[in-house]
Amino acid sequence: MDKDFSLLLKDLCCSICKNDFDENSVEIIREEPQLLVIKLTCQTCGKDFGISFLGLNNYKINSAEDLILEKNKRPNISTDDVIDAHIFIKNLDENWQKYLPKIEEN
Ligand SMILES: [Zn+2]
Repeated sequence: MDKDFSLLLKDLCCSICKNDFDENSVEIIREEPQLLVIKLTCQTCGKDFGISFLGLNNYKINSAEDLILEKNKRPNISTDDVIDAHIFIKNLDENWQKYLPKIEEN
């Protein structure tokens, strides 16, 4: 086996017989550039733990920016915005529906 699963299996044990998993417990079903499909089986009692998908294989994270999938383009919400919204909601009366956008029927 050319993959190192020691980090993945660290601190994990079989829920049935409590024996540790080793690299023989992991069978690679499918391998894609950024994805591994593995099958986990206890080598001691034979319990089948099913199929897992492992992403980010060989992916190197150099900075927190690498983890941001999409930047939020909206302005940040300030404390004042939250207080304003709170006062607005608190003061709503039975006519609150007048603040809803009008839906024009065709
Ligand atoms: Zn077991």
